[in-house]
Amino acid sequence: MATFTDLSLSEPVIRSIINMGFEETTPIQEQTIPTAMEGRDLIGQAQTGTGKTAAYGIPLVERIMSQAEHIQGIVLAPTRELAVQVAEELNKIGQFKRINALPIYGGQGIDWQIRALKKRPHIIVATPGRLMDHMRRKTIRLHEIKIVVLDEADEMLNMGFLDDIETILKEIPEERQTLLFSATMPRQIQNIAQRFMKNPELISIKATGVTVSDIEQHYVEVTERLKFDVLSRILDIQSPDLSIVFARTKRRVDELSEALSKRGYSAEGIHGDLTQSKRDSVLRQFKDGTIEVLVATDVAARGLDISGVTHVFNFDIPQDPESYVHRVGRTGRAGKSGLAITLVTPREIGMLRLIESVIKRRIIRKPIPTIVEAVQGQQRLTMTEILRVIAEEDIEKYKGVAEDLLAENDSVTLLSAALKIITKEPDNVEVRLTEAAPARGRSMGGRNMGNARPQQGNFHRDGYGQKVDTWSRRKGADFRGGTAAPQRGRDNKRNGQ
Ligand code: ADP
Ligand code: MG
Repeated sequence: MATFTDLSLSEPVIRSIINMGFEETTPIQEQTIPTAMEGRDLIGQAQTGTGKTAAYGIPLVERIMSQAEHIQGIVLAPTRELAVQVAEELNKIGQFKRINALPIYGGQGIDWQIRALKKRPHIIVATPGRLMDHMRRKTIRLHEIKIVVLDEADEMLNMGFLDDIETILKEIPEERQTLLFSATMPRQIQNIAQRFMKNPELISIKATGVTVSDIEQHYVEVTERLKFDVLSRILDIQSPDLSIVFARTKRRVDELSEALSKRGYSAEGIHGDLTQSKRDSVLRQFKDGTIEVLVATDVAARGLDISGVTHVFNFDIPQDPESYVHRVGRTGRAGKSGLAITLVTPREIGMLRLIESVIKRRIIRKPIPTIVEAVQGQQRLTMTEILRVIAEEDIEKYKGVAEDLLAENDSVTLLSAALKIITKEPDNVEVRLTEAAPARGRSMGGRNMGNARPQQGNFHRDGYGQKVDTWSRRKGADFRGGTAAPQRGRDNKRNGQ
């Protein structure tokens, strides 16, 4: 794999890349950056989490003149979260070249945006709808745009932005460079390319499977009624640092995040009906670890890059294999390992098989975890934390009380009582969720799906033939902190409730 210094980039850009901690290029970056630097149109296809933002962000920043005080580049992105995230990354890449990128999205005050636009950003990263608003008000003019990027083009089409995108592209001078990035290449995208791009080079990075191979993928077959208990138990056993739980509807997201909070997890939900400021604050808290479990709909989590997500739970199996790939891609970012667990009701097994056939990989079946395993998981967590405190923290001032207590009780009884206080015990607070209709394969009914199972030979090697086994917390040195020790005072939080 190439390093960034092989790519004839300018000194300030190299410096910012080093600053960002990137050492080697990812395959999509290695291939797209030189072509894009030449000014050619290109279509980049690579699975999620492979560094597509920098793949276009680096040449974009390189090709912009910092002295010229007008908008020279536009990135179109499907959601406001993604717009914010992309603008952040562009600002990092452009920090030493002094290139400014501004996110523009619906839900944020238009007057505020107009003021921000007066500061003359070089690049705007916009959702199509809001950009159209600004075009109508003439608060953004597109006549000096040199480069356009369509990011997550497939998702923008899914969200119905086709007309807006066409209108926008027609407004931008034809001498521009157009870059299009997408995880998948449906027909409609090829149409756009044909109509709005000039002889684009297609750069497609074939994935080993469709999903990142570092992600372990499991499923548990469980009835709708038991799903929530199963999720709670897995959370207790695995004690993930940061996890995302996907639910099918906004209502389920609300109910689930509330139910998780009731049971003592620090959880919050995110979906399109929340105000922008609420969504921002939830995301911020999740990124800094104040919230451990983010409950989300597909749309809300699409494209988000949050590092350190160790677990993805499909509380509801997604409606199609593509969403599965997108969801699972929220963990295992940038070469780190991750675990994805899907809860499947008996009627949804057909969908699971369809997903397996698309990702050309077997999803490993796990049994329903028992309460005993959940208890053991939490006890293990407490034990690890106690040993850590002994090794790392100052406990001198507790020793006097400890000796007094030991004078009247035996040590095992005392320690057991202390353990009981610190350990989160499985919680049976009653919760109620609105039923979700089961997901089915799109064109093939729920039956007969056995045929869609991949041939043995196609399966990914690891995890092969592995039989259903018991639950244990994942080992793996690259989980944050590398131990099962609770972090950020999580257990105190839980026990207080
Ligand atoms: P995609 O758009 O393909 O889903 P992103 O652009 O969001 O992927 O990148 C995923 C993660 O990988 C981000 O955290 C990004 O900072 C990181 N990343 C990108 N390129 C590199 C690189 N060359 N080296 C290390 N990390 C990288
Ligand atoms: Mg992306």
